[in-house]
Amino acid sequence: MTTKKLLEMQQINKSFGNGLSKVHVLHNLNFTAAAGQLNLILGPSGSGKSTFLTIAGGLQSPSSGQVKLAGQVLTELSAKQRDSLRLNQIGFVLQSYNLLPYLKVSDQFALVDRIKPANNLSPTELASLLDELGIAELIDKYPAELSGGQNQRVAIARALYPNPPIILADEPTAALDSQRVEQVGQLFADLAHTEQKAVIIVTHDLRLKRFADQINEIKDGQLLPTVINH
Ligand code: ADP
Ligand code: MG
Repeated sequence: MTTKKLLEMQQINKSFGNGLSKVHVLHNLNFTAAAGQLNLILGPSGSGKSTFLTIAGGLQSPSSGQVKLAGQVLTELSAKQRDSLRLNQIGFVLQSYNLLPYLKVSDQFALVDRIKPANNLSPTELASLLDELGIAELIDKYPAELSGGQNQRVAIARALYPNPPIILADEPTAALDSQRVEQVGQLFADLAHTEQKAVIIVTHDLRLKRFADQINEIKDGQLLPTVINH
């Protein structure tokens, strides 16, 4: 079977600041994610996970190195082309959820329809996703009326709604209890295995390990492979 590489990162460096206050967060980092795989990147707080994920998805640029998303080198695209690539290829679950406070849950999805009118989940598929995540009854509520875990699951559903081939998730289970972690882990694994998506999750949640096909650890800004023993 040929594996389709959807994300390739080569020799990525990232530093912030200059002079004495310069912090070098990522060091010559290489990473590849293929369709059909759930990739887990584990690391403690401050190890560079969010930096890594936002660079992977083109939300910020590396100081040096190359990111190839769905076959396209990000630096070779215009800002408009990068936006379009992100919109059509990536589902982002950000650490901050990024839900709009003045929109009901149902309207968070309607907004996606306005920005990206085609190729989103069908109403039936969305209903079954909301059901699977246990948030079907919340569609008339506003984010402020929801618990952290409920908002987190809405954010996951919103990221999956455009049906993207690449899913990038930042600590997607941080606010969830163990039973929900199992459901969400299984959902991400199914998206990889049955729908051939490339799923990349950065987290310190070891409860997700058993769902992963590939596990790396971020340590001192470098990625180390980890042996999987389920
Ligand atoms: P994690 O997600 O693993 O907690 P981050 O990627 O958020 O780690 O941060 C890694 C390091 O980079 C931290 O030391 C953080 O303070 C630093 N950092 C992240 N973003 C910025 C920024 N925009 N400016 C300065 N330092 C930053
Ligand atoms: Mg983070």
